Amino acid sequence: MKKSTLALLLFATLHPAAFGWTPQELWQAWPEERFVSTPAPCLRHAELTERLRALEARHPGRLRLEEVGRSYQGRPIYLLTVGRGPRKVLLWSQMHGDEPSATPALADMADFLLTRAEEPAAAAILDGVTLLMVPMLNPDGAEIYERRNAQGIDVNRDALNLATPEGRLLKRLRDEHAPILGLNLHDQNRRTSVGSTGVLATNALLAVAGDPEGTLTPGRLRAKRACSAIVAALAPFMPGGMARYDEDWSRRAFGDNLTAWGTPVVLIESGGLPPGRGFTELTRLNFVAILRALEELVRDDLAAYDPQIYDQLSRNTEDAWVDVAVRGGTLWQPVAAPYRADLTFNVLRDEREAAGCAGQDPVRSRVFEIGDCRFLAAGRELDAEGSLLLVPFVAGVRGFSARRWLDGETLAELARLGVGTVRWAVAPRRVTAAEKLAQEWAGEARARLEVVARPARLPWLEVTGPPPAPASDSLADVLTALARQREWAQLRDWSVSEVLDRLWGIADERPVRPPLRPRQPASFLLVSPAVDGQIDLDAARLVAVFIDGIEARMADDE
Ligand SMILES: [Zn+2]
Repeated sequence: MKKSTLALLLFATLHPAAFGWTPQELWQAWPEERFVSTPAPCLRHAELTERLRALEARHPGRLRLEEVGRSYQGRPIYLLTVGRGPRKVLLWSQMHGDEPSATPALADMADFLLTRAEEPAAAAILDGVTLLMVPMLNPDGAEIYERRNAQGIDVNRDALNLATPEGRLLKRLRDEHAPILGLNLHDQNRRTSVGSTGVLATNALLAVAGDPEGTLTPGRLRAKRACSAIVAALAPFMPGGMARYDEDWSRRAFGDNLTAWGTPVVLIESGGLPPGRGFTELTRLNFVAILRALEELVRDDLAAYDPQIYDQLSRNTEDAWVDVAVRGGTLWQPVAAPYRADLTFNVLRDEREAAGCAGQDPVRSRVFEIGDCRFLAAGRELDAEGSLLLVPFVAGVRGFSARRWLDGETLAELARLGVGTVRWAVAPRRVTAAEKLAQEWAGEARARLEVVARPARLPWLEVTGPPPAPASDSLADVLTALARQREWAQLRDWSVSEVLDRLWGIADERPVRPPLRPRQPASFLLVSPAVDGQIDLDAARLVAVFIDGIEARMADDE
């Protein structure tokens, strides 16, 4: 951040403190006073409806809840009207079904304002503006956690065509009410960073332009000032985590056209949070940001906020942030001699699953980049200096009768010993039954079980029972535990390269493409120490095992 920005920001943060709620007060009040406790990714239309009715019942006669339209599949879309001021503000969330963070915040805000209606700050907002809130504009998309509506149309690219009932409704509300400000509430790629700072963009803002030239009309100035107020409000809770959206003008989008039609629009994109901070914080940030902007709007049309604070924000930058970076290691995989390379990857988990409310979608990982990753920031850093990154081993199991000892726990134990894949050879008539078991036993941080019909050639490393615990994490002890049916002495006569070829099950033919490459699962072992890209099998230790992006073992944890 430039010094001038910081100075302005401090000024703006301190200046309005005499009036209304401080950002800290709002931030602290939210956990106790929020009206919707369900995490945003888990909130669907039915529960939202129930919550809005409960809100209406809690504040009888003091808010208006109307069904103002229906989605393509016939789900009611609600307008929640709060306040009695002459000027109107239109707020809508989740026009993209899988962008839910602001939806609970709208109900939380309505309840907060009405519960505290006697307080000067709440009274000023309720008397100063009328809030028109559409939580979950795209309920069909929300139901299946998908961006588009049930017609497969991106509602936010339908401002000109108006082919969607959701888009037509938004246009109608804008034309009926002529709001002086619109807040368009979205979520963006959670791995976006703030410029080249390497800081995750927790929020991105856009004072939407109404024309390609970005003409600064009085309305757009208001939108910029609102963005500046939001920057000041959120800075304490996400230092450096605020970006400016990367595109100023998008001709088919609603924000741009609403601005052109006379309602200046602020786009708020909720983004990513560092590891350990959950989805609910994004809702909380929306709550603080919007209430602070409204306070300043009713006070003096945001006059205290310099638009330059917004103008000087760094832009959103994609592809600059990854979940995990393994740096400085030597990568050895079955396609080439060892070479120095960083490895970066992302761990993809369904947001509803991560928030604790949906099915059993498997976690998947994707390698992002291999090679020079020095300019990528990461949520988690692993130092692989002096280590080898190896592709996990492949083991074989013979016969359907292995089901007596083979199970999920054994697959987890094999993974901890560095086995990524187990090839299970069964009689052809047993394949279906074995595949069913393989499905049952599958799970995070477990070796993947591949069923093959006999007669199949099994990998060199054959497993005949649950592996015994190795005497230590030295590679020699690990391999002894795994290969107990083979002569470990025989392995000792081979070069490391020959040993690895056997452990990878590729003694005869080498794969054409390396298994670790962009967009493939991130499965690897970390072996240390390595000197000049070589290891001493007796001295080296198995330090870490990752199976499809998930840690199966980390020596330091034990
Ligand atoms: Zn969106």
